[in-house]
Amino acid sequence: MSAIAQCDVAVVGGGLVGAAAALGFAQQGLTVQLLERGGPTPRVLDAGDDYDLRVYALAPSCVALLERLGVWPEVQAVRSSPYQRMQVWESEAERALRFDAGDARVPALGHIVESGLLADVLWRHLPAGVARAGVQVAAVASDDAGAELRLDDGGTLRTRLLVIAEGRESRLRAALGIEALSAQYEQTAVVCHVRTERPHRQTAWQRFLPTGPLALLPLADGRSSIVWSSTAAEALLALDDESFCRALGEASQHVLGAITGCTRRVQFPLALQHAERYVAGCAVLVGDAAHVVHPLAGQGVNLGFGDVAVLLDTIAAARAESRDWAAPRVLKRYERARRADVLDMLAVTDGLYRAFRVPGAGRLRDAGLAAVNAVAPLRRELVRRAIGA
Ligand SMILES: Cc1cc2nc3c(=O)[nH]c(=O)nc-3n(C[C@H](O)[C@H](O)[C@H](O)COP(=O)(O)OP(=O)(O)OC[C@H]3O[C@@H](n4cnc5c(N)ncnc54)[C@H](O)[C@@H]3O)c2cc1C
Repeated sequence: MSAIAQCDVAVVGGGLVGAAAALGFAQQGLTVQLLERGGPTPRVLDAGDDYDLRVYALAPSCVALLERLGVWPEVQAVRSSPYQRMQVWESEAERALRFDAGDARVPALGHIVESGLLADVLWRHLPAGVARAGVQVAAVASDDAGAELRLDDGGTLRTRLLVIAEGRESRLRAALGIEALSAQYEQTAVVCHVRTERPHRQTAWQRFLPTGPLALLPLADGRSSIVWSSTAAEALLALDDESFCRALGEASQHVLGAITGCTRRVQFPLALQHAERYVAGCAVLVGDAAHVVHPLAGQGVNLGFGDVAVLLDTIAAARAESRDWAAPRVLKRYERARRADVLDMLAVTDGLYRAFRVPGAGRLRDAGLAAVNAVAPLRRELVRRAIGA
């Protein structure tokens, strides 16, 4: 592109959150440009394809957004794995805190979905001409009336609303002078899929170990996906497959029997991050560009999709009232609506991370989990919050 182009909404970052935002705005009849530095566009997956190593536990509120965007049936047509139960424990699996879909009166607590599949479906639903892969923003100038993006292909894009969905290393956030509080966790997540001796029974399991939380998430083909956040990640990655499976079996107290096989392992460094504000002039932050949480509650994409749902509603309401729909006072409504939820989730995930690192208090915490288990209304409230109902 060499001429100056114009659009209503420019979304920078074509991850799940940015792609969902771009699709939602396009469906509202706005002209949208989605700029993604990676490329080419995701490939079309079908049920015969191998599983992406990156999977997410999507809460019902997330599924509701995907339904609203019209992409959920296509995701399900390939594969997703609903889970009915969650079991959380520390030292004794028998004393686990148990959540059931019945507690929250929902058909499932959530769905395990692959990142690549979701990205593929979202991108394919974007109207022609919206998505541009392999392009980066070289410079940005923004005020209340709009933003101008200079692109690394020499083109310029003018937009009324700038949605920053660049993930945690957001460069535009820094360029617009928005500070972010940031801290690295001592744990690194080790991720892979495993075969187990016993079936997962559509249950998501999570054990809090002194070195960090270990989650086993049920996949549609009977395997489980693990997210093992650990201070000893390097040692776990260095093990051969057989030793790794043995270590995992012991760490999970064999709730699914022996671990009989595993895929290659990948690692993700973990951090906590929060932007001091989500709005600057006509620019808004969404997803990991605004907030990054520890994956122990599986809430990162859920929060990002929550941002998208609220932003879409905020802009639609302002347009319905024939207001200047991208004015800072409109965007501030989005920020007010999201901040409290996000800070709650940051506090919960960071609080759990810290609480389970206090040595010697395991039995006390187990007793606490067992006590919560015994009080149905409290359990119901926890489930409701966990699934964003
Ligand atoms: C181990 C692990 C497990 C997790 N499990 C869960 C879970 O179960 N459930 C859940 O809800 N969340 C989970 N999360 C969190 C989740 O991965 C993130 O919250 C989510 O991926 C954030 O999406 P995003 O679109 O905001 O950012 P990203 O996925 O980081 O996407 C950002 C995109 O922007 C592009 N980009 C960046 N800069 C530019 C630029 N200047 N120009 C153009 N493009 C740019 C990047 O290439 C990228 O495609 C987990 C995280 C980890 C680490």
